[in-house]
Amino acid sequence: MPSETVHGANTPAPRTVLRGARLLDARGDHGVRDLWLEGGRVEGFDLEGPAELELDASGLLATPAFIDPHMHLRVPGQEEKEDLASGLAAAAAGGYGTVVSMANTDPVVDDPAIVRALVEEAAALGLTRLRPAAALSMGLRGEQLADYAALQEAGAVMITDDGIPVADSHLQRRACEYAVELGLVVQTHSEDPSLRRDGVMHEGRASHTLGLPGNPDSAEAIMVFRDCEISLLTGARVHIAHVSSERGLRVVRWFKEQGVPVTCEVTPHHLTLTDTVWESFDPVFKVAPPLREASDVAYLREALRRGVVDCIGSDHAPHTRAEKDRDVLTAPFGLPNIEVAFPLLYTKLVIPGEITLPTLLNLMQAGPARVLGWPEPTLEPGAPADVALIDLESERPVDPASFKSKARFSPWDGEPLRGWPKLTLVGGRLAFRS
Ligand SMILES: [Zn+2]
Repeated sequence: MPSETVHGANTPAPRTVLRGARLLDARGDHGVRDLWLEGGRVEGFDLEGPAELELDASGLLATPAFIDPHMHLRVPGQEEKEDLASGLAAAAAGGYGTVVSMANTDPVVDDPAIVRALVEEAAALGLTRLRPAAALSMGLRGEQLADYAALQEAGAVMITDDGIPVADSHLQRRACEYAVELGLVVQTHSEDPSLRRDGVMHEGRASHTLGLPGNPDSAEAIMVFRDCEISLLTGARVHIAHVSSERGLRVVRWFKEQGVPVTCEVTPHHLTLTDTVWESFDPVFKVAPPLREASDVAYLREALRRGVVDCIGSDHAPHTRAEKDRDVLTAPFGLPNIEVAFPLLYTKLVIPGEITLPTLLNLMQAGPARVLGWPEPTLEPGAPADVALIDLESERPVDPASFKSKARFSPWDGEPLRGWPKLTLVGGRLAFRS
């Protein structure tokens, strides 16, 4: 991770000690210790001397701050939905130290000047680190490749038309060939647009009962297959975003077993919600790809245990309340979730014993780092001082009114969860404190 970038104010980060936290990272459980940070980096455990900032972390988990490979920040041009200050404050409140923002903004992030502006404006905020993704095609029109070399030079870390599937297989091939030369990862929104058509929810028993247009899991599986084949053809590191269905994930698994350099992510909502929520006709549940059936959710969870899934991507996709209050056919796709992602998955998956805490942490720390080609986040001396302090014990209901995000609604409104982040340090500076 390019942590050398100046972050926040120009003064050095204060020497800080987190007293008495349980330290857990990819290297293991280090027990209850004092964690010392200096100059934006981890200094060591149980040191001595003066600290400019001393924080009582007793009873809390200290762990590397999370990395989100998939967040929609809506900048530039859609700041009524989210802006850098609200989106990065929301990420910090979720325990995230670094997020990758998507390119489907207005204008699209297909211009190096936009990438540069995003990086600079975000750094000045002193919140969660922003590493923008850039568009695969100019204007996300799926016709002409963007200038990846110039975009990478400006700070782009990933290439993607996310939000819009790349329909033209030849263009996808050329994008992958170009990305290979630069060592960039290509993220795909794998849905066959001609098969998903105007589906607003998963095609199945629930859509038939409710009489709503469905989007079959085949639309995902077909496009995942194509995108994996193009990874094989070109050698490109292809990252399949938000895999939602058993059929789609089986395809990813089959290609991985053959050594094809594909990675994949699943989202907090596809792991915890099914299409039966549509009985309420509430457009909050309208996401792309759609919420699937209970058997798909079970398969996704099993795939977490088997190590088939590389990481959790939030696909945090904020919209205004007015937009989401439209009817189910015209409301936009997407929901906000970055502030509840960890507590939600901790409460629904770790507490019942479906996956272990180290597995969940891996999916939100080392997993996304591997996808992006970044070093493994740890608490070892010299590592960036990107640290989340988490309360695994206290239970608190989801309260959308208190979200830092501008999208103050949630499918989990009122649900009691455990595992809330209490504090997030980015480069040794306080980005969030509850
Ligand atoms: Zn997408």
